[in-house]
Amino acid sequence: MDLRYWLTRAADFAASWAEQFGPVQPHASHHVSDDQFGVAFEQFAKRLEHNYPFFHPRYAGQMVKPPHPAAIVGYLTAMQFNPNNHAQEGGPATTEMERECVRALAEMVGFGPHIGHLTTSGTMANLEALYVARQLHPGKGIAFSSECHYTHERMCHVLGIQGHRLAVDALGRVDLDAVDHILHTGRVGTIVATTGTTGLGVVDQVHEIVALARKYGARVHVDAAYGGFYSILGRAAMGIDPRPWRAIASCDSVAVDPHKHGLQPYGCGAVLFADPRAGKHLSHDSPYTYFTDSQLHLGEISLECSRAGAAAAALWLTLQLLPLTPSGFGQILAANRRAAIAWASLLEASDELVLYQEPELDIVTYFPSGTHMSTVDARSDALLRAGMAAEDDPVYLSLLRTDASAFRRRHPLVTQDTDSARVVRSVLMKPETEAYVGTLHARVEELAARV
Ligand SMILES: *Cc1c(COP(=O)(O)O)cnc(C)c1O
Repeated sequence: MDLRYWLTRAADFAASWAEQFGPVQPHASHHVSDDQFGVAFEQFAKRLEHNYPFFHPRYAGQMVKPPHPAAIVGYLTAMQFNPNNHAQEGGPATTEMERECVRALAEMVGFGPHIGHLTTSGTMANLEALYVARQLHPGKGIAFSSECHYTHERMCHVLGIQGHRLAVDALGRVDLDAVDHILHTGRVGTIVATTGTTGLGVVDQVHEIVALARKYGARVHVDAAYGGFYSILGRAAMGIDPRPWRAIASCDSVAVDPHKHGLQPYGCGAVLFADPRAGKHLSHDSPYTYFTDSQLHLGEISLECSRAGAAAAALWLTLQLLPLTPSGFGQILAANRRAAIAWASLLEASDELVLYQEPELDIVTYFPSGTHMSTVDARSDALLRAGMAAEDDPVYLSLLRTDASAFRRRHPLVTQDTDSARVVRSVLMKPETEAYVGTLHARVEELAARV
C-alpha cells in the first residue's frame, strides 16, 4: 500500500465528514501560511534526520520497528477527530474498535470471559494488574524473577507492596523451587510470570507456576508485554514449546504490548483480566457525566483517564488485514523465529563470536570471544560502537548487562574478573531480517575481528 495515496485519502475523509456540520471559519490565532509552515517543517525534518534506521535489518538492536502502514493510516485518520477513549462519548467509534481489539487479544492468549482495555504502555498495563492484585490480596506481597522487567519492582514501590525478587534457573527462567518457597511463606498473593523476558526473550514455565500458585491460593499475572504475540505460535505448537503459552489461559491477568510485536505506533499496550469482576477495583464515581451508555465505560475500568482513540483505530485497522492467527501475524513471528535460529547456528560456528544463549523467541545474544569477562565486556562495547560509527556499512546492535554468576553458568571457561559483563543483544523482530541474516552475521563478524 502506498502511504502517500492513503494519507491523502485520510485527509479527504476527515474533510468530507466535517462538511455535514456546515462551515466554520478557522480562528485567526491558528492561521499559518504555507510559507511559514514550510520554514518550520524544513527545520523539523532536519532535526528528525538524527535517527536510527529501525526499519532496516541492519538495525538489529533494541525492541523497536516502525508501525505497519495500515496502523499509520488508521492512527492519522482517527487522530484528525482526536477521539478520547476515556468515555464512550469521547469517541464512540474508536471505543467500539477498542472493545473488538481487546476481544481479539483475549482470544489470542486463550481467555474466555474477560475484562480489559488498551493502555498507553506495558508499564501502565502491569501497574494496573499489580494494583488489582493488591486489592485482591491486601497486605500480601508480589513475587517476580530477577530477570523480569524492572517495572515490577518499581510499581511495587509505587503501590506500597512488598516486592520479592526470585532466583532464576540456568536458562534465566524463574526458579520453581524459589516460587514454591515464597508461596509457602504465605507472604505473597501474586506471582508475576514473564513470557518473553526483555533481556533474553526467555519464557517462564507458566504451566508449572500456575499449578504452584493454585495450591497456595495465589494469583498469577503474566507479563507478556514483549512476548504476548508469540501466543499465536505457542498455542498452535508451531516451533515453540506450547505448554507455557497454553497455560496463560488459566492465569488471572496478562499485559501485552501491541506497540512491540503488534506493528503499532508507541502508545498501545493492553491489560486483560480473566475475571470480569476485576473491573470493580477500578471503578470510580466521576463527577463528569457519561450520558450515552449503560455499559461500563473503558474509563471506568482503567487507571488512566484520557487515552488516544487513534491507538485503538490503528490496531483495529491493522487487525482487519493481519489477524492474530498463524496465517496472519503468525507469519511475521515465524520468520523472526527462523532468523533467530539461523543466526544462532552461524554464531555457534563462528571463531570470532560466541553465542551467549540459545534464543527461545527472537532475541539473539552473543559476544566477541575473550578469555576474561572484562575482555568480553570491553569488546562487546567496542563492537557496538564500531557498528554504529561505520560510515558505509553500519550495523546497530544493543548491549545486555549480565551478572558474573549468570555469565559463568553459561560460559564456565571464561575467567571471572569483574562483577558483570556486557554482551551484545539483537532483537530480530522484523521478518525482513530472515533474508538478511547471512549479511548481518558476516558484517558483525568482520567488525568483531577488528575490535
Ligand atoms: C517492554 C516491556 C515492559 C514495559 O512496557 P512499555 O510498553 O515499555 O512501558 C514490561 N515488561 C516487559 C516484559 C517488556 O518487554
